[in-house]
Amino acid sequence: MSTKKKGKVYLVGAGPGRADLITVRGAELLKVADCVIYDKLANPALLKFARPDAEIIHTPKRTGDGSFTQEEINKLLVEKASLGQTVVRLKGGDPCIFGRAGQEITAFTEAGIDFEIVPGVTAATAAAVYAGIILTDRDYNSQLLFVTGHEAEGKQESNIDWHLLAKLKATIVFYMAMGSLDFIAKQLIKNGMSKETPTAVIADATLPTQRTVTAPLQQINEKCKEQKIEPPAIIIIGTAADTKLNWLTSKPLFGKNIVITRDADGNANFASRIISKGGIPIALTTIKTKPLTDTTQFLQTLAKISEFDWIIFTSINGVAIFFNALQKLHKDARIFASAKIAAIGSETAAKLGQFGIKAGFVTTVYTSIELGRQLRSFANLQGKKVLLLRSALASNKLAELLEQDGAKVDSVAVYTALTNKTDCNWLNEKISNGEIDWLTFASPSSVRGFFEQIDSQLVNSSSAKVASIGPVTSEQLKSLGIKIDMQATEHTTDGLLTAIESCEERKAENRGI
Ligand code: SAH
Repeated sequence: MSTKKKGKVYLVGAGPGRADLITVRGAELLKVADCVIYDKLANPALLKFARPDAEIIHTPKRTGDGSFTQEEINKLLVEKASLGQTVVRLKGGDPCIFGRAGQEITAFTEAGIDFEIVPGVTAATAAAVYAGIILTDRDYNSQLLFVTGHEAEGKQESNIDWHLLAKLKATIVFYMAMGSLDFIAKQLIKNGMSKETPTAVIADATLPTQRTVTAPLQQINEKCKEQKIEPPAIIIIGTAADTKLNWLTSKPLFGKNIVITRDADGNANFASRIISKGGIPIALTTIKTKPLTDTTQFLQTLAKISEFDWIIFTSINGVAIFFNALQKLHKDARIFASAKIAAIGSETAAKLGQFGIKAGFVTTVYTSIELGRQLRSFANLQGKKVLLLRSALASNKLAELLEQDGAKVDSVAVYTALTNKTDCNWLNEKISNGEIDWLTFASPSSVRGFFEQIDSQLVNSSSAKVASIGPVTSEQLKSLGIKIDMQATEHTTDGLLTAIESCEERKAENRGI
């Protein structure tokens, strides 16, 4: 008997637009898949759930290089599952709503491949909710219809009964219909629907780039053209399209283009917080963090770590890199048994918490110099041995302050930041075209990395505003001659966002919004 593992395909709905609308079941399956095959409308940010060694295949349909026909996709799915793999077929929205799931399932059945379907949030309901539209309401309708616009125009064998649709007292939602919007509106009006029927078109639903256009049915096509609305978009026709709750567009940073300039991990984290406030993060990875944990100095320090009275972590990066090195050396948090731990800022302390360490002292102000001042008044450092785990680029001020108090300080660089050079023409263009609202800087090294690649004169003469996380970063900006529009009061990325929000709110108030 064969012992070969049997493969299986999971047809998983990714939800529309934003990545966190996937179901818990869908995310769990992504974490275990050997192979992920995803289509154009599934948000690529979901791939962060996949195993690092999983095979990832993008299968956009349409024409052009790298595009796949449905038959090719079916073949690929069967081939991967036949190798014994757990395959996640990730499809935008719900896999069984205008998603060609039927053809894929037929292919699995014919090949004897086991499969399972995981539903997803479909574009119609998500677009309606995010545009503040209630698709059904007992006061105005009890019928809801999903229709594909793809086969509407020019198809003689179309299944759409325009006469019936025009008469229905229902909310009608069209998918894949931007190309035939004019035709659809004309057909409905010709068959008796009022030309004043409220209509809404929602493009890029649930994403920070979401746009909604509303107009009477007769004018909707013209208005969408004027406003250059592009697919993917959902069209909602009926009284429901008149209800506007605006909960998304009233978010403080809605539609603001915010450039983020940290390392890749830092940018990913910052981006999700910008999105949750309705903003559009534009990431430039300016720096790469390079661990320095294989140096003799670091290894010798670890060997005598039990001798220290205080150990100070100055950043999230320092914590992550330090514990990564510990793990590689088959050591764990017990090496801290006797030392007291200090952290600069709540984010560094929270990172320590992830490794089971509770910092005994956390600065409420977030610079090294403040940590020095606060630690000196918190503890008697006379004759105490202090280990400072920091970036190779940090200043010596903290060590000097502690030494003035009689501490014996070992200052050890656990990482350094290198500039990450990339092609930045696209960003130069956006800045000079006035498409950027904010440029944010969260460390001196990201300032250096950014301005090694972007012209400082261009930034100073543009409408983009510059936001700095705190005084040390501001110093670096000033030394390069950059005009600073705002410095955060709380020196964390959350503090930076809160400060940007307040500026935007003040601006809106001044405009009388
Ligand atoms: N299975 C998908 C639909 C695939 S058909 C689902 O359940 O949502 C593709 C169509 O879905 C697009 O033409 C558009 O009409 C709609 N769509 C998908 N994502 C969308 C989004 N983020 N915003 C608006 N419409 C979207």
